[in-house]
Amino acid sequence: MGSTKRNNNFNTSNTTFHNNDIMKDGASRSDCSTQKDKLLFEEGEMPKGLREPFIRSGYRRAYSTPWQCFKSLVYLNNESFNVWSHLLTTCYFLVRFGMAALTQSNSLLDPFNLPLLASAFGTLMLYSTSSVAHLFNSMSERGYKICFFFDYAAVSLYTFTSSQAMFFYARPMNTQWVIFEWPSLYLLLAALFSFLVTYGCCKTDAAVNKFSTLLRALPALVAWVFSTLPFTVGATLCSCHATSMSCRAFSACSNESIGYYLRHVFCTILAGFMYSSRLPERLFPGRFDLIGNSHHFLHLCAALATEYAFKIVELNVSYLKNENLSEETTAYVSIINTIVVAILVMFINAGILLWFAKNLRVKESVYKNYTKYIKESNVLRRRSLGSSRNLQEIDCATSVTRPKGDFAADY
Ligand SMILES: [Zn+2]
Repeated sequence: MGSTKRNNNFNTSNTTFHNNDIMKDGASRSDCSTQKDKLLFEEGEMPKGLREPFIRSGYRRAYSTPWQCFKSLVYLNNESFNVWSHLLTTCYFLVRFGMAALTQSNSLLDPFNLPLLASAFGTLMLYSTSSVAHLFNSMSERGYKICFFFDYAAVSLYTFTSSQAMFFYARPMNTQWVIFEWPSLYLLLAALFSFLVTYGCCKTDAAVNKFSTLLRALPALVAWVFSTLPFTVGATLCSCHATSMSCRAFSACSNESIGYYLRHVFCTILAGFMYSSRLPERLFPGRFDLIGNSHHFLHLCAALATEYAFKIVELNVSYLKNENLSEETTAYVSIINTIVVAILVMFINAGILLWFAKNLRVKESVYKNYTKYIKESNVLRRRSLGSSRNLQEIDCATSVTRPKGDFAADY
């Protein structure tokens, strides 16, 4: 049994910490360095705001510095798969779009290539932002939320630039649908859906309830349905053999294109389902901490869905060129309604996320009270020991250890 000194419970103004770890009289330098070198933490050692549902272990140090986050790239933790999967996806699409640009005979800034350029911008922003968000999300509870606000804004931008590519390369001709004859209307609606995704996701993340994940997936689903509308309508209601006065779409007669579309739909729905259901970790908590959890499937499915969408665009671009339809296709294309508007949508989405970030109320009480607790416990310890002999231990504890036990239960 420890003495009262050893197992002292310490009360700060509104927080109670169990300091049996820090106040242990026999703490040695080796214990200290072990703590300092510790890279992975259990769920119980993490503040509530840095935990993931059903993930029990493999967490990085809470309140990591940017450098500690960066170093986590080289050891296995429960964010490794998320960071690396989208880092590699970013590199993959950088090469993919680069090769597509190289094979174009005309200038990259030729109107026909502008939707492709906007699509490259949205895709690379999505995967690079996701990777960075996962890499630096352990810096604080507030930072964790803000990282994912950026992630949501990048998803929103991606839905918009995908809509641009689908509209300009895959929309059906002669449908008599106003939405397909009037690019400004389609792009305005696509932009509004994009803002709705950022707003809905940030809103549900800032004010968490048990339906948050599902509510977050819904605006993204609506924006995705709208972004694929040109292809869906073309494939289902038109024919590629129609006369110039009736509905015509390449997708209606291209089995290859429809095959990619079905795979794109399957991957997107699976990604949404995995994200919302938190399966399989919901059934086996702790079993899929490092690999195989729902977020990992989400990342893989999203990357595959993007690849299939890219293939659809690629096929349509080839078709339009081969059929000498590029002029008709790009009659409405300008740098304003492609690159400029994509950048504008990015800034508006950034504005929405920054507004949520500014008004975010995250209880960082653990961190603040913990700092206060360390200071006060040092004073107590100095008094009780009455010597400077153990100050080194105190410094060690101050810099690296945190109260053991259930972190969340104490705030
Ligand atoms: Zn993610």
